[in-house]
Formats: sequence, structure tokens, C-alpha cells
Amino acid sequence: MINLKNISKSYPVGGRDVLALDRIDLDIVKGEIFGIIGSSGAGKSTLVRLINLLEQPTAGEIRVDGRSTRGVTGAPLRAPRRDIGMVFQHFNLLNAKTVAQNIAFPLQLAGVLSRAEIEARVGELIARVGLGAHAQKYPRQLSGGQKQRVGIARALASKPQILLCDEATSALDPETTQSVLKLLAEINRELGITIVLITHEMDVVREVCDRVAVLDQGRVVEWGKVADVFLHPRHKATLRLVREAEHGEAGENARDLAHAPGPVYRLTFLGEAAHRPILGAAAREFGIDYSILAGRIGHIRLTPFAQLTVSLVGGSVFGAISRLEAAGVVAEKLSDGPVGIAARAANG
Ligand code: ADP
Repeated sequence: MINLKNISKSYPVGGRDVLALDRIDLDIVKGEIFGIIGSSGAGKSTLVRLINLLEQPTAGEIRVDGRSTRGVTGAPLRAPRRDIGMVFQHFNLLNAKTVAQNIAFPLQLAGVLSRAEIEARVGELIARVGLGAHAQKYPRQLSGGQKQRVGIARALASKPQILLCDEATSALDPETTQSVLKLLAEINRELGITIVLITHEMDVVREVCDRVAVLDQGRVVEWGKVADVFLHPRHKATLRLVREAEHGEAGENARDLAHAPGPVYRLTFLGEAAHRPILGAAAREFGIDYSILAGRIGHIRLTPFAQLTVSLVGGSVFGAISRLEAAGVVAEKLSDGPVGIAARAANG
């Protein structure tokens, strides 16, 4: 659908080049919701301008729907651009136009449909985004969430294959964010539109994305299924974004590990495993006790998860861990506990 191959982008600043994106490879697949997450300065806005074909990369190639856009300028760029609908953080609505007129505007500019056809299409779009009662209102009469629904309807007007959402929920409160994300998920599911979500918020990714790429200092440092990246972050930039989403609570700290009474494991229960009382059962069966050092629960899209960092003492730790793994729990050993630390000290 969208393929970025070895993309770099630099800008001349004060006589030297600033590298905003550094050898990016991304393959966004038709029908998925793909998240691109990064902190401020990571290169997100630059990537948006490349994906929507406003700018050309310094090196590398971008393909939209199999067509290369390398060196393409002017009129031939219009077709691939029409494939991509943009949703903006600050909505970018025309204040002097009503909801219906804002949505009709790109269709009037395109000049392909008749007035009656435009009216019918606008009616459909307004119903699609749930603004039936507001068609004749002006932007200043709408809430932030309603304005973004207008923005989404306008982006859909010219029947794009892809919706590119640039921090589309960053100006909204948490509840409104949820409802706009729900609408985007519906559009993806029911219209089969591929969605690319650019965000600095892990919660947005967790809520709706299938896959995610983590951008840091112009590089993709980690990518994959959201459950893998969110529950098992490997890069420090990802860990930082996960911690931010969990208000600093995610994960265990070095002090917890050093003071643990026994070996420390991080246990991840995903989906069905999150509902079953398997930890207590395994502990009883293998005669172990556990103390909880850290934990988080939540959901990834509709799948529940729980992640507990526990220190295990007594009995057969090996047996209990094997039993948990057989039940679908992912167990990662974080430390050997005091035994391991004592052994390492004894070995110098
Ligand atoms: P983000 O959107 O993730 O905050 P940006 O894409 O805006 O990141 O910026 C990435 C890097 O590229 C930053 O160091 C920024 O200063 C630089 N940059 C982005 N756009 C320009 C530009 N037009 N001219 C010069 N430097 C730029």
C-alpha cells in the first residue's frame, strides 16, 4: 500500500545539513491500522510530509499502491495524492463555512461530481461520522470531537484508500479521543480504508493500531505487532513511551530487583490467559510463594493483558514457570535474586 525504502531526509540549516530522517524502511499493508510513534523531534512531521507527497525524500523511494513517486512532480502526483486523505491535529476547518460546506469543499474543488451528487455524498459522510444534527452549524458551534469528525468526513470525501492522521487526537480530551479512535476503527473495518496514525501517545497506538513503528532521532528503532512492542519493548525510546503512558508506573526498578527475595520473572498474560487464575494454581502445585514487585493491566485493542513482575521463593520455581508457559504465559527472567547476586559476589 505504502512502501518506504531506505528513506532519508535532510534539511540545510545554517550551512550544514540536519538529518531529520535516517534510512527509514516501512511497509504499510492494505487494510491495517499502522501507528508511527515518537517523541517530539523524532521526525514524525517530516515523515508525514513525505508520505502525503508534499516533499520528496533526499534519498530512497516511496511507493503508493505500487507506483513509485520518485522524481514525480506536478500533475502526475495528483492521483497518488488523491489516494491519501489527511486528518490534522487542529482540524483545519474553514470557519466561514458550515459543516456540510466544509465537507463539500474538496469535492467542489475536484470538479468531478455534479451539485446533486456532491449533496448526496456529503449527506452520506455526515451520517457516517455521526453529525446528522449538525450539518448546518459552523465550526465555532462545535466541540473539538465534533470538529475532528468533520475533518474525518472531509478527508473521506474524495474516497481515499488511505487516511493519514497526524496527531489527530492530540488536541482532544481522553474521552473524546476514545470516541474519535472508535470512529477511525469503524472506518477501517467497514470501508476497508488503510489508516496511518502518527502520534506521540502510546495509548492511542494501544487502542486501535495493528502494528507500530517507533521513531527516535530520525530512525525506526523498533517495529512490529502492537502487543509485542507494547508488552516487550526493547529499545529505550519505546520503554520511555510505554512508561509515559503508564504514568511512570510501568516496569520494575533496579532497587526492586536487588531486594527481591528470590529469582525475578516478568509474567505476561495476554488474551484468555489474562482471565484464568493460573498464577495461584501454579504456585500451589509447585509449593512456591511470590511477591509482586510491579504490575500493569489493561487491554490492547480488545484483548486484555496483565503483566506482573514477581519474585519467587521456595518450591520448584522451574516447575511453576514451565506450568505457566504451558498455559500461554510469557515468562522473562529478569534476575536470579539474592542467590545469583551472592553467587556472583562469591565468584568475584
Ligand atoms: P517531530 O514531528 O517528531 O517533532 P520533526 O519531523 O518536526 O519531528 O523534526 C525532526 C528533526 O528535523 C528536528 O531536528 C527538526 O529540527 C528537523 N526539521 C524538521 N523540519 C525541518 C525544516 N523544514 N528545516 C530544518 N529542519 C527541520
